[in-house]
Amino acid sequence: MFKAGATHYHIEFVVETTGRVRVYPLDESATRPLSVDAQPLVLSVEGPSGDPTPVMLRPVTEEELPGTTTQFVGRLPARAIVGRLAVRFNEFKVRGERYRFEFVWNSPVGEEALLAAYSDEQRRIFLTPSGKYLDSDIRDNGGISANAKFATITPTHDHSPQPGDRVCPVSGFKAEAVFTWVVGGDRYTFCCQPCIDEFVLLAKERPDEVRPADRYVR
Ligand SMILES: [Zn+2]
Ligand SMILES: [Zn+2]
Repeated sequence: MFKAGATHYHIEFVVETTGRVRVYPLDESATRPLSVDAQPLVLSVEGPSGDPTPVMLRPVTEEELPGTTTQFVGRLPARAIVGRLAVRFNEFKVRGERYRFEFVWNSPVGEEALLAAYSDEQRRIFLTPSGKYLDSDIRDNGGISANAKFATITPTHDHSPQPGDRVCPVSGFKAEAVFTWVVGGDRYTFCCQPCIDEFVLLAKERPDEVRPADRYVR
């Protein structure tokens, strides 16, 4: 729940065992969807290790209602999926007002089951070719998943790329040279590991939406 004077709203925070996270804003009754500004959300998620990890969620928009949304989706890195999480929304805009709030989320699923499901999903995403994601890409990426490669690296999430900077194809934030992945023979640069998951899924499921790497520039 988060408040603005007399008004308060709610959110439903859902974490799937695959690492997919969904946020649904709800109205004062906590039952009806609340339409809010379509905005990228950067959450800070802190697991039992005490290391806060920034996680990016993007708004799911509908063509009929551009600029607003009732759902945000993103992915958690493996180290932010287990056990008890402190989740902080640093800036959440609802009808022009900015909110900041935090809560604790406890996983209903045991750590072992969660990590097993997460690894299965990583294998499914990264070690099977489909669409624009090729066998040669899997080899060029070292035959491992993005989580296996980048698990220990904390992203910066710079929201203000300068003209000429490479931007993450998923979030539009400034891309970091450390987070690179080969897709369709082209080397892409991202803002964090979960965005690589998203992009490879896009290349497999909706390959027409993938542009050449050098097009993702501010
Ligand atoms: Zn990104
Ligand atoms: Zn990111």
